[in-house]
Amino acid sequence: MKILVLGGGVIGVTSAFYLNRAGHDVILLERRQELARETSFANGGQISWGSGHPWAAPGVPAQALRWMFKSHSPLVLRPRLDKAMWRWLAQSYRQCKPEHFRENKERQLRLARYSHNCLVQLRDELDLDYAAATRGALVLHRDPQAFQMSEQQLPMLESLGIPVHRLDRDGCIEHEPALERVADRVAGGLLFPEDESGDCQLFTEQLARHAEAAGVEIRTGTTALAVVPGEDRIEQVLTDRGSLRADAYVLACGSYSPLFLRPIGIELPIYPVKGYSITMTLRRKTAAPRGTITDEQYKTVITRLGNRLRAAGTAELAGYDHHVSSKRIETLMHVVGDLFPEAGDLTRVETWTGLRPMTPDNTPVLGSTPYRNLFLNTGHGTLGWTMACGSGRALADVISERTPEIDLGGLTLERFSKR
Ligand SMILES: Cc1cc2nc3c(=O)[nH]c(=O)nc-3n(C[C@H](O)[C@H](O)[C@H](O)COP(=O)(O)OP(=O)(O)OC[C@H]3O[C@@H](n4cnc5c(N)ncnc54)[C@H](O)[C@@H]3O)c2cc1C
Repeated sequence: MKILVLGGGVIGVTSAFYLNRAGHDVILLERRQELARETSFANGGQISWGSGHPWAAPGVPAQALRWMFKSHSPLVLRPRLDKAMWRWLAQSYRQCKPEHFRENKERQLRLARYSHNCLVQLRDELDLDYAAATRGALVLHRDPQAFQMSEQQLPMLESLGIPVHRLDRDGCIEHEPALERVADRVAGGLLFPEDESGDCQLFTEQLARHAEAAGVEIRTGTTALAVVPGEDRIEQVLTDRGSLRADAYVLACGSYSPLFLRPIGIELPIYPVKGYSITMTLRRKTAAPRGTITDEQYKTVITRLGNRLRAAGTAELAGYDHHVSSKRIETLMHVVGDLFPEAGDLTRVETWTGLRPMTPDNTPVLGSTPYRNLFLNTGHGTLGWTMACGSGRALADVISERTPEIDLGGLTLERFSKR
């Protein structure tokens, strides 16, 4: 089959790679001049299949209200006349019930665990070099009470088969010796030993080169304008460089995916949740973490990427706005300066912002649509890098009419039409 993949982030590229492997003729379309220049560019770098969880969780609505009035808050809501935002917030609120959280966590985990296996296979087979660290992820607590409360998660994590170790202060320092300088900030943490980290953009670029060498045609600098439907199929895609026809189409445009679907009668509840990162070159490697840490108090991820250190976080609801707010950057600088003060020069950081394509239940949308030849791979929210390889492979199986290696129940568009 001839297949057109729209979107050249980590999700579009993994889709194109696996579709090519399944024997299809693939064209990948990307509006930027280079791949992975939007949300896949400078994210937190975590492959957090064990430690990741849906943000819509019990207790979050009350916590969110408290955050509104705090400086260095991980959540920022800019009240605006945006129907899509308020509808998405209401839907997310409903997903915070314990029964939904548990269901969404199971779905996320099913895909994320599979995706981790796919990533390890690809890395070994293709010898990919993307500043990977396989040292687990440490979820760090500064507050002793919050650390104690975190233990309540252990039975649930164990019942889901997620390896996790509880570390006291000394344990955290043994795992990340750079924390010794700030031992008084550390109450303890949960170590997810099988989580990993690495540079999503480097990975995407390298995988794209392999895909290209295997026959995928990559067209950058080309913007898709609309998908044109027939009765029950997509007939063509209009672009700023003419129209393109294929046997099947994959929509992997991240936060922009719903904008293609609305005109053809499909309502996809994805909202852009803005995040920020800073990246700096290390001055003293021993003063920086060796792997990846999540600072639970500030909901900030700090990840070592070779000789660089990246901090990422913040959830800002502000529509499709790419403005870099200096206040949000200050928060990230504060967290890094507080935990790893000697790691690098905080006056010389690269700043970045990206839009997480978030569904209200924080799990992606994979597979078929009411149009027989239109498929979705989008809505990966906070965990797109973690879930990319598995999503690409499962989608290639669906399009090739093979049974995916994981059950896609609850991960398709169907769940929204039911609700
Ligand atoms: C601050 C932050 C930290 C994060 N940390 C992590 C983390 O630690 N671990 C993790 O797993 N995930 C993390 N994420 C989430 C992850 O980055 C995203 O889920 C993932 O990058 C989404 O990939 P994507 O390919 O769907 O979207 P994108 O990377 O945005 O790709 C979509 C592509 O479609 C293209 N496109 C859009 N419209 C058009 C059009 N009309 N025509 C042609 N092309 C078009 C865009 O240019 C873009 O390249 C983080 C996100 C943020 C913002």
